[in-house]
Amino acid sequence: MSIGTTSHSPVGATLEFHGAAGEVTGSCTLVRTEKARILVDFGMFQGSPADEARNAIAPEIDFALLDAIVITHAHIDHCGRLAMATTLGFRGKIYCTTATHDLLGRVLRSSARLQRARFYERSNGTAPWARALMPGEEPGPAPEFAPAQRLFDVPEVRDTMDRVEGVPLDREVKIAPLVSLIFRNAGHIPGAASAELCIGSGAARKTILFSGDLGPERSALLSPPHKPKGADVVIVESTNGERRRDAGADPEETLAQIVTRAAERKEKVIMPCFALGRAQLLVHRLARLHARGLLRGLNVYVDSPMAVQGIESLYRNPEYLAPELRESVKAGGAPLWFPELHYVLSKRESMAIDRMVHGGIILAGSGFMDAGPVLRHLEESIDRDDCTVMLSGYQPEGGFAWKLQRGANRAQFNGKTMNVRAHTVRVEGLSGHADQDDLMKWLGSFENKPGRVLINHGSDSARAALADRLTKELGLECTLPMREVAIPI
Ligand SMILES: [Zn+2]
Repeated sequence: MSIGTTSHSPVGATLEFHGAAGEVTGSCTLVRTEKARILVDFGMFQGSPADEARNAIAPEIDFALLDAIVITHAHIDHCGRLAMATTLGFRGKIYCTTATHDLLGRVLRSSARLQRARFYERSNGTAPWARALMPGEEPGPAPEFAPAQRLFDVPEVRDTMDRVEGVPLDREVKIAPLVSLIFRNAGHIPGAASAELCIGSGAARKTILFSGDLGPERSALLSPPHKPKGADVVIVESTNGERRRDAGADPEETLAQIVTRAAERKEKVIMPCFALGRAQLLVHRLARLHARGLLRGLNVYVDSPMAVQGIESLYRNPEYLAPELRESVKAGGAPLWFPELHYVLSKRESMAIDRMVHGGIILAGSGFMDAGPVLRHLEESIDRDDCTVMLSGYQPEGGFAWKLQRGANRAQFNGKTMNVRAHTVRVEGLSGHADQDDLMKWLGSFENKPGRVLINHGSDSARAALADRLTKELGLECTLPMREVAIPI
């Protein structure tokens, strides 16, 4: 394994990682060839206030010289800073899949709205907040928020979206002198793709493949990631590079228990989730529970316009669905619909379902329970013993969900302290990311072994764990790129 740079340069290009090198957010990689400059992803840094403060600092890239920007998918850590590009001087075209094109403008506009709301709330001291308290932990004052940043607003989003071209999967398109692009299904969320950059022509043509975020090998909802023929250089994500899924965990059975209990006791179930990915997976699982007769009239509310767009996008772009579901949609079916499913598209509707008395399941953001409508739903019901809060996936240490899972017995909402009486259940196996075994299988499935693998989008320990297995088991040469260090490839 090598760290940083090496001397050989068979592709005749260089790569510079301006984010997501040793971390899981801020994807942004510059590809330079002799004749072209292409940026792959321009995502936001997410996590701590210090991480978020990095978003306002433009990467050291001359945007006026870029030929094109390629966006792998509509998650904010891959596309969230795109609307800053025109202000920074970018005048080229932006490429993403047609399904991502569908979602991208909405994601960026919703980010602009959120930035605006945060700016106003933090300026006048009305920013909503919540905190879970462990036994013995004293309630505290409101957290001190850093001043909110406004990175862009609706006009910048409009300028950006005017430059976007949606490209169907598996179609080659020329994007810069001697550079063409093919998107391959990544199986991660609706529209998510790996980006294959073909550089040069004829016998000298080389391929650089950016995995983007990859989905698991087996998903009940989405098609598995495309198996590439080969690539000279692969840049692979490693979000779950050191995790291996528990083969025994069947999320559907845990969900079946939650739903059965809720239907019997007329409980309210709050399922915090991310709008693109987790929400569609849950709706699909709940559709299967409906088919098994387990919902018994229990209504399911999807309280997120973006999550609704993600569901609708799968009907418009069935190529992202698992084969059985794809066939069903092509035949006119609606495998993600069931009579108990309700879309919640406004704050007024969201507040109305807060106060329902007959039980029901609410899917709402955010997945980390640190913002969004889920906080209001929790405030309404966390002190009720006829409420269940479902937890899943990674939770930031010390955050609301992390503490709730470890036995927090009180919670503060905007200064009001409440007892936690709601029941919490953790559901495993809902990740939209490939685990270590899936990543090994994906890289092992190439017909021609890649010449070199660069590992990004993961913590250093995740990258090292994946590199170790790739080197030992597949004999691949792995590099762990450092931020802003040019790597000849
Ligand atoms: Zn993603």
